[in-house]
Amino acid sequence: MEYKIGSIAGDGIGPEIVREARKIIDRIAEKYGHKIKYEDILLGGASIDATGVPLTEEAVAQAKSCNCVLMGSIGGDTSTSPWYRLAPNLRPEAGLLGIRKALNLFANLRPAVLYDELASACPLKEEIIGDGFDMLIMRELTGGLYFGERRTVEENGKKTAVDTLTYSEDEIRRIAVKAFDIAGKRRRKVTSVDKANVLDSSRLWRQVVEEVAKDYPDIALEHMLVDNCAMQLVRDPGQFDVILTENMFGDILSDEASMVTGSIGMLASASLNDTKFGLYEPSHGSAPDIAGQNKANPIATILSAAMMLRFSLDLDKEADDIERAVKETLASGYRTGDILSDGCQLVGCSEMGSLIAERI
Ligand code: NAD
Repeated sequence: MEYKIGSIAGDGIGPEIVREARKIIDRIAEKYGHKIKYEDILLGGASIDATGVPLTEEAVAQAKSCNCVLMGSIGGDTSTSPWYRLAPNLRPEAGLLGIRKALNLFANLRPAVLYDELASACPLKEEIIGDGFDMLIMRELTGGLYFGERRTVEENGKKTAVDTLTYSEDEIRRIAVKAFDIAGKRRRKVTSVDKANVLDSSRLWRQVVEEVAKDYPDIALEHMLVDNCAMQLVRDPGQFDVILTENMFGDILSDEASMVTGSIGMLASASLNDTKFGLYEPSHGSAPDIAGQNKANPIATILSAAMMLRFSLDLDKEADDIERAVKETLASGYRTGDILSDGCQLVGCSEMGSLIAERI
């Protein structure tokens, strides 16, 4: 098959980690006989330097012309980079928010996987880790408290602040459908997280999720209150497959879930719209402190590329192959500096990419 992949190198370690992820995609294309065309797209600081703004209309049009987009990371050192002396709407992060909005990316996916080889980085006790865990948090990205009406009023010298948590049936339905579709490619379980004992928006959430579940009889659905979910993530993380939740709950729970894996350089992410299109990027930032030194861990970006093949291009076998190659490379004892432990061999960003490519 022939695919067009948007490629946003971005800033800091972005160009290094995207180079390695492309190395892996090229190896997959060679092995499975696919034809890949890359479309290089400017975003963030790199776009500011070239065009004066962090996102151009041309960049949005380029992204829309692709099957999916792979991104490194954007942004610089927020205290020293000249990008942060610009007005907020001209800074690198405005480009990222802008492209997410322009592409209507409403579903954010963050897997939290514990690799046996990295179990020592997990802050949980061995008996809790058990056989490890492999969950995926699906967070609604464009509604809820962060986008509702807000105001601060002052009466008789006392201030009152109001934020509004709004969800429509359609907003809930489209992300629930995504969660069930994706659970079908995994272990077939959805845990929908809400606060239905208190919030109307959560009661509607629960009702719509149950309606959607009727179309997926082979996928198990459970509901969990958000406070319980926060506890269960550190008490028994192995119970979760897909966690489906609204914007603010997902913001908090996805950070909690990623911290229990213990290694930021390993965490992939994706943002999807209601077609097969998605923007895939590591969860970490542009790490300006190690940029250009061949020290970055490219695995989060490589695993994001695997998600891209699975969810946007339906290349499940190829995605499995990448994930297996990553595991085998770790099992062989190779580590970048951020995940280095005793007895392992330190390698740089490009070596890590090559070692994984060799195993495909
Ligand atoms: P960061 O994630 O870039 O770095 C935090 C720490 O983790 C640093 O010590 C860094 O060296 C290390 N680190 C991160 N990724 C690594 C990797 N792949 N391999 C090895 N070590 C890694 O967070 P920060 O320092 O708070 O932010 C730096 C810049 O990144 C800022 O401009 C911020 O706005 C931006 N940022 C961008 C995104 C994005 O593009 N989606 C996300 C978060 C932060």
